[in-house]
Amino acid sequence: MRAAGRLDRTFVFIAFPVHIMDDILWAPWRLAYIAENERERQERSARDEQNRVEVRPDGDPGCFLCQAVADPERKRRLVIGRSENTIALLNKFPYNNGHLLLAPLRHVGRLDRLSETEQAELTRELNRLVIRLEEKMRPHGFNIGLNLGHAAGAGLPGHLHWHIVPRWNGDTNFMTSIASTKVIPQALEALWEILAEPS
Ligand SMILES: [Zn+2]
Repeated sequence: MRAAGRLDRTFVFIAFPVHIMDDILWAPWRLAYIAENERERQERSARDEQNRVEVRPDGDPGCFLCQAVADPERKRRLVIGRSENTIALLNKFPYNNGHLLLAPLRHVGRLDRLSETEQAELTRELNRLVIRLEEKMRPHGFNIGLNLGHAAGAGLPGHLHWHIVPRWNGDTNFMTSIASTKVIPQALEALWEILAEPS
């Protein structure tokens, strides 16, 4: 591998300052998540509890990424691919169609806890996922970024994950016309069929 250390630093440098959203995407289905009441939250927790699998020894049972890593049922977890040290899945509460998450298999929350192999592999997989999205969904651009820590908006600060959000010209307007909380679960399954790689 060519100058992996150098490549890693470049990647980190790029990933740090990028805001996920340069302009605000209207994603009303996220309201289902944000505005769920206590009963709905409990129901969701109960469902998650039922589907819970035993995670790797270094994993966190309460972490949805560790759960996805350990669960052989890829579709249920919206996992579209994995490599030796990374996993890629659809974001259940997307900012845009095709919003992917890329994470190391290990439950680590800090960049400096990634091995050089993991960093190089994450860079390679990020590149591969962008190409896959380009091939399958023909976006006009991407927002790619990493939220480190609660203060930066990380919903899951203990397990690093990169957001890959495809963008289309005019999608901020387009989304308002098609978005509905009801169509999203179907859309996610259909999208999984399109993007999932053979296991
Ligand atoms: Zn985890």
